[in-house]
Amino acid sequence: MKELNERQREVVSMLGNSTSTSGWEDWKWHVRNSIRTVEAAEKILGVTFSDEKRALYKRTLDKFPMSITPYYFSLIDQEDYESDPVFMQAFPDIRELNVSPHDMADPLHEDEDSPAPGITHRYPDRVLFHVSNLCSMYCRHCTRKRKVGDRDSVPDRGQLKQGIEYIRRTPAIRDVLLSGGDPLMLSDERLDWLLGEIRSIPHVEIIRIGSRMPVVLPYRITDGLLAVLKKHHPLWLNTHFNHPRELTRTSRRALARMADAGIPLGNQSVLLADVNDCPRLFRTLNQKLVQNRVRPYYMYQCDLSEGLSHFRTPVGKGIEIIESLVGHTSGMAVPTYVIDAPGGGGKIPMMPNYAISQGVNKVVLRNYEGVITTYTEPDSYEPSYCDRDCRSCHLTLKEDDADETGAIGIEKLLSDWDDTTSLTPENNERLARRDAPADNPADDGAAPAVQAKG
Ligand SMILES: *Cc1c(COP(=O)(O)O)cnc(C)c1O
Repeated sequence: MKELNERQREVVSMLGNSTSTSGWEDWKWHVRNSIRTVEAAEKILGVTFSDEKRALYKRTLDKFPMSITPYYFSLIDQEDYESDPVFMQAFPDIRELNVSPHDMADPLHEDEDSPAPGITHRYPDRVLFHVSNLCSMYCRHCTRKRKVGDRDSVPDRGQLKQGIEYIRRTPAIRDVLLSGGDPLMLSDERLDWLLGEIRSIPHVEIIRIGSRMPVVLPYRITDGLLAVLKKHHPLWLNTHFNHPRELTRTSRRALARMADAGIPLGNQSVLLADVNDCPRLFRTLNQKLVQNRVRPYYMYQCDLSEGLSHFRTPVGKGIEIIESLVGHTSGMAVPTYVIDAPGGGGKIPMMPNYAISQGVNKVVLRNYEGVITTYTEPDSYEPSYCDRDCRSCHLTLKEDDADETGAIGIEKLLSDWDDTTSLTPENNERLARRDAPADNPADDGAAPAVQAKG
């Protein structure tokens, strides 16, 4: 076929398909022919590992399986594979078996925050809906490593229906994020059905798909798939490029076709030691993404999942990368750096400090060059008391356009219309002492009932 380069032809023939190269652009061929054993990888890589090394790889695979699409595998630089970013994201490393004391199987408590099969409902107005536990390529840095290759937990139509029912009976949900696994592992027909069901729910405003297919198997972006996706707008897609090398001609074409189908594209990278922990590399990656109509959305600090400790960087590395982007390049090319809080706290944005000091009517700021400047605040700002009665307010927000949710957390502390003044941890020892019955019989035990509302 005209599309295949020399290396791709070589990979096809080593997979035992020497008579035909016609499968290369068929995504299902890649899924069927994914490289899953150390021996197959050695053959295609053209190397022979020492017995000792092979045994270590195999031990790792026993706990965390491997699956690499021939397409993604063909991107590995054979000459220098050990420091190749594609190899490192796809090939097992014995260090995955090191479990450090802080590692957790489910650090984000996705399973605990699950009110229905496949649903993680963490934020007030949106849910994560795990619609597939399959991926075409198993990322070594997967935050859901605990589930990788767990074929038994692929949800069937009945389980998906339970998730859909939860969304239907929960009017607060206006944003549904399809995740997995990779949602694009579902057939076009199954996706069409699923998206149609979700789209039929009046309170769902947007649907998002999180998929790494544009990176690891861009041939999945077929005309048939695009026809399905286009039917269910507004639909957004976030993908997962971690390195500029992954933006090949084929993946760029897949991105262009999705953008042409009217799908706004975003990217979620993970900061990974020895793969992309470099400000210059990240700047290149993000600029190339923007060139391909993909908006860098998040850059994640690597999670505390088991087997990822060798991929983790200090938080300072992420701050340094953001420092090298803000001001230096298009704002469009600057993602939000987030730490997904262990225990289900959700994503927490991290930024370099730009505010240096503050007086009564002045803020002292510094810019990306290190210039220190001041912003003078207005001396005649009339604060207006907000009782959440939009009809009597001078600002014109139609109540129909406003959300119904009350204030949560810090927003509550800042509001006029809720009298909460502090948020107190449930197990605060000082307050527990006030509430405890007195041990001393001479004490009348009338502890003041001070309990912060919250
Ligand atoms: C990341 C995530 C979302 C979406 O968060 P956004 O900041 O809106 O992109 C929703 N639910 C869960 C559980 C998540 O982890």
